[in-house]
This record gives sequence, C-alpha cells and structure tokens, in this order.
Amino acid sequence: MSRPIIIACAITGSRPGKADTPAVPITPDEQIESTQAAFEAGATVVHVHVRADDGGPSYDPDRFGRVLEGVRTHCPGMIVQFSTGGRGDSLEERGSMLALRPDMASLATGSVNFPAHVYENPPALIEGLARLMQQYGVMPEIEVFDLSMLYNAKALADSGLLSEPLHVQFVLGLGAALPAKRPLADFLVSELHDLSPEATFTVAGIGRFQEMVMDWSLYAGGHLRTGLEDNIRLSRDRLAESNAQLVERAAALCVGYGTRPATPQEARALLGLPTAGTA
Ligand code: ZN
Repeated sequence: MSRPIIIACAITGSRPGKADTPAVPITPDEQIESTQAAFEAGATVVHVHVRADDGGPSYDPDRFGRVLEGVRTHCPGMIVQFSTGGRGDSLEERGSMLALRPDMASLATGSVNFPAHVYENPPALIEGLARLMQQYGVMPEIEVFDLSMLYNAKALADSGLLSEPLHVQFVLGLGAALPAKRPLADFLVSELHDLSPEATFTVAGIGRFQEMVMDWSLYAGGHLRTGLEDNIRLSRDRLAESNAQLVERAAALCVGYGTRPATPQEARALLGLPTAGTA
C-alpha cells in the first residue's frame, strides 16, 4: 500500500476532564499547543470542540475562532474541523461557529443513544447544519454512529444538501451505539462503496477498541482518527501523555502497512479541499 493516510486528531471532545487525564487540552491556548504537537507527529486534521475554562461544555464562537486562528498560524495547511456535536438541538448552539469557515465540520446524520443520553439530531437540525455548511463552504464529515445514518447521508446527497464524494466516519465501540465488531466494520465499508463509490472514510474506535479499529480501517482502505476525545489510554493502566503520543501510535501503524501519514497538501487533495491559503 502506498496511499498516504490522513490522521485526524480529536484533541478535546465534550469529555474527558482534567480529573480523567491531565493531558486533555481545555483552554484555546492549551488546544493550540496540543494541536501543534499532534501536527508535528503526523496529524493533518484537528477535530475541535471547545470548553469553558472550568472544563464544562461551550459553544462559544469566540473560542472556536481563537483555536482556528492559532492552528492556522502554527500548523500550516492543517485541516481544521469543528464539531457540531454536543447536547441540545438548537441550530444556533450547534451551528453558529460555522460562520468562521473552518475547512470541515462534523455532521451526524441521525439520532442515537449514547451511554447516558440521547444524541439528538432531528431532521430539521441536520438539514439546517448542512445548509449552513454549504453557505459557508465548509466540507462535512459525515458521522455514522448507527446504521441508518449512512443511508440518510446518501439521501441528503441525492437531495442536493450534501456534495459527493462524501467523507464518512464510522464510529465503533461507543456504548449503546455500534459495537467494535469486524464484520460490522466490513459491512459498513462495503455499503459505503455501494452507495457512494468515490467516498473516502475512516473507521474510528472508541476507548480500548481504538488501536484494533485503526488497523481495520487501514486494511479496508480508510484513514485514521485518534485523540483524547476518543481514548485517553495507551494501554489498560497507562494514560496517554498527550494527543501527540496517540498520533505517534497511529503514524507507526501506517508504517506497518508500508505507508505513512499524509502531508497537509496530500490530505487536502484526498478530501477534495482547496490547498491552504495564506490566511
Ligand atoms: Zn467530537
């Protein structure tokens, strides 16, 4: 295999907290610093949630803007992807940061149970977010937490709300949603190839499933995602010291497959994104 691999790093998430791992970056300054180290280790996409200073949830566009600006300054060419996830189903909360025109944003195309709550994505919210992404020239990453979300994404593409080729992320191993089972991963990828042959994809594993699922993703022709949002441990009793350390592990996996992490320019070309300007 010689295709270069896009490594996405989900640096923060809506959890964990500092009590779970001191490595999780919370403030925009911490996030920029952690992203730069991840970038230097081979990550070309940063997936961004923002937090309040106390670690609680935040949707503050000002915080998203500070991270965007810092990453563009310190990580030339890196793809910035904002999360539109989180609780609540108001378009204002979930989508106001899209006006900042990040390169990409996550878009879950359905609702699902998470371990302790419903991740609500009603049709009107999904369509509203897709429209905002079109309006601001933001490429969606389709988040598939349950099977129907894949088919719904294709229906949205057919209706013109999403542009093909799609970039899809399958998330396995999150309690109450899809389990980390290899036949399931293979089925999801096969269905994606059938529905949208040009699509690119990542299969992402949560927690202790992360490394195993990364291996499946590479084998199936996909890309990689890691980061403290998804997994805070290197092994059962060893916390990861940083996002960069998790990215290093992903990069090592690429080498095992005879390839390497993509450069920012390669990652942009693979996703059909414009080459980074000098903004
Ligand atoms: Zn996220």
